[in-house]
Amino acid sequence: MRNKQVSEIKSLKDERDAVILAHSYQPPEIQDIADHVGDSLELSRIAAITESSVIVFCGVKFMAETAHILSPQKTVLLPEPEAGCPLADCICVPALKSMQELYPDALTVLYVNSPADVKAESYACCTSANALAVVESAPSDEIIFAPDRNLGTFVSRRSDKTFHIWNGACRSHAIADLQHMQTRMEEWPDAELLVHPETPPAAWDIAHAVLGTGGMIRYVGESSTKRFIIGTEEGMVYRLRTLYPDREFTGGGNIYCINMKKITLQKILDSLRNMEPIIELDPRIRKKANAAVARMTEVTE
Ligand code: SF4
Repeated sequence: MRNKQVSEIKSLKDERDAVILAHSYQPPEIQDIADHVGDSLELSRIAAITESSVIVFCGVKFMAETAHILSPQKTVLLPEPEAGCPLADCICVPALKSMQELYPDALTVLYVNSPADVKAESYACCTSANALAVVESAPSDEIIFAPDRNLGTFVSRRSDKTFHIWNGACRSHAIADLQHMQTRMEEWPDAELLVHPETPPAAWDIAHAVLGTGGMIRYVGESSTKRFIIGTEEGMVYRLRTLYPDREFTGGGNIYCINMKKITLQKILDSLRNMEPIIELDPRIRKKANAAVARMTEVTE
């Protein structure tokens, strides 16, 4: 069954002139059929320059919207329209505007895990990979950082700027099980623990490094350590095992995102067959959000 789905996806992909982009949190079978697997920043940059006329985005809604913002001339398909992000849903335009009125001199740096209309009201977007660099490049010493409080706190501790941090969180990372991380460390005393900045600060305190997913890939590549405990969404363990078959990886913290697992091979197949669901935005919002998203892609980590 799976082989048949994979071969049908491959032939339809060619027929439709499509490229399949998958986030590193996607299930193994989706990572395996993707043309590119990466973090939000890498996939955004690929979406901006791909020559394919169709982008099949295997991730969650804000990622597909970001691809559409960067490549409005392309058709962007999200195979499961209900693949949302509770972090993105915890912020809205009126609430952000109220915060901006409280701090009129601050520039808003918005984690890309946010709705398109909120991006349109921000100075710049960022990912976990380049959040500090985006903050430092913003022409103000006062920053509103939204919507993830843990990433905002992580960046604020590394910057001299004044921060006003939105009180939102990724439900999957914010409830990371620190006891589970500790147990894994006892089981693998020679391993390094790498955690994502969306995890609580208490996890950073016990970790060897705090990194976004792209940073974790680079860190492992440059390290001589053989075993790693990965404190982010479990799909990343498969990604690292694929990239570094000579190392050992295990998950730490029981971090699982149900929305990232909503895409299936059958849904990709149906999406390519029917050319839906297509991600579309109000053109005014898309154009306004493009400035903030473009700043994100221009700033290197
Ligand atoms: S892991 Fe967290 S931030 Fe990422 S899509 Fe899932 S809920 Fe959203």
